[in-house]
Amino acid sequence: MSQQTEPLDVEGLREDFPILQREFDGTQLVYLDNAATTQSPRQVVETITDYYYEYNANVHRGIHQLSQEASVAYEDAHDRVAEFVGADGREELVFTKGTTESMNLVAYAWGLEELGPGDEVVLTEMEHHSSLVTWQQICKRTGAECKYIPITDDGYLDMEAAEDMITDDTEMVSAVHVSNTLGTVNPVSDLADLAHDHDAYMFVDAAQSVPNRPVDVKEIDADFLAFSGHKMCGPTGIGALYGKEHILEEMEPYLYGGEMILKVTYEDATWNELPWKYEAGTPPISQGIAFAEACDYLDEIGLENIRRHEAELAEYAYEQLTQYDDVEVYGPPADDRGGLVAFNLEDVHAHDLSSILNDSAVAIRAGDHCTQPLHDVLGATASARASFYLYNTKDEVDRLVEAVDDARQLFA
Ligand code: PLP
Repeated sequence: MSQQTEPLDVEGLREDFPILQREFDGTQLVYLDNAATTQSPRQVVETITDYYYEYNANVHRGIHQLSQEASVAYEDAHDRVAEFVGADGREELVFTKGTTESMNLVAYAWGLEELGPGDEVVLTEMEHHSSLVTWQQICKRTGAECKYIPITDDGYLDMEAAEDMITDDTEMVSAVHVSNTLGTVNPVSDLADLAHDHDAYMFVDAAQSVPNRPVDVKEIDADFLAFSGHKMCGPTGIGALYGKEHILEEMEPYLYGGEMILKVTYEDATWNELPWKYEAGTPPISQGIAFAEACDYLDEIGLENIRRHEAELAEYAYEQLTQYDDVEVYGPPADDRGGLVAFNLEDVHAHDLSSILNDSAVAIRAGDHCTQPLHDVLGATASARASFYLYNTKDEVDRLVEAVDDARQLFA
């Protein structure tokens, strides 16, 4: 994992992303919806075309050359993505559709079996719906209870409350690493310690952290950790679940079918080795291989460099937006956040704001960002969110701030 600390050659990097050259009515696109989905560089797209032009075949089934090439590339991709997050190898790294499916896999395979009345699952108030709804519904089905660690007024997790809430009744602590709404970077390693003190598991939702900072599953001591390819320059339809090997060995499969079996009779079946036990059916082969290529691409740039670049842009955006009293930015202070700012312009609904920004070719997200209960806590029905990535520039932040000013004038 790279730890260089060099400024990014953003202009050079942008050449890898043809989509950033798009114009709308002669105005160049400013893409600030990266927390939803990042763009893919040529290197990743070409990995997919190479696969379809050169060695498209089903994996693990054929003796023929194409199938062997596809199988090796797909299997190796697991090792590469595992290495990217500091896991030991493919035995600890299951490919899924993304963070949401990774969460559901554990909730169904482990939660339905292990949880019951009297057990507690501890989440945070800033969970994405992918974790919140999943655990909430599994708790309803098992009789377990969901609890939520509150946030402080400045958007941090209340760790004193966490210490009180994580008890011997806790079976699972599931927390978002970087909040996709507040930009808060949560102390997931401390939460893991608390969980383990009470023999509970720690699940880290790393959808917004693995793409933009060094993340090491062993340093965190996560039992499970989930992330999505499309938020880190990779394709859609692919993501990962890291799990400690002994836990993945113990859990039952989540989906049944081909690929995940070892021996089948009319009466019973046994399961394939890890990680294939959790990858039933024909997998997303080209996506998996391209996911590994995205890891290469990001490692080449350096995760620490990306983290710093994003943080600088977020700090700059925060300061520029809050020059005006009519803008409220949610979450921690400017110099202590991940690479996004969620905000509201007084008396302008976030959807209207986003639509006006779209007229200036500035793409942001408006809505609840899959954190409805958190928006209730913030006292907002929705917010606008600008989220940055390695190819964004300060000039683009200026374009955002100018477009917000246009909206201000329009609604004055
Ligand atoms: N968790 C967080 C913090 C997210 O931001 C997202 C996506 O926005 C998800 C989970 C869900 O990711 P996916 O839709 O790729 O499954």
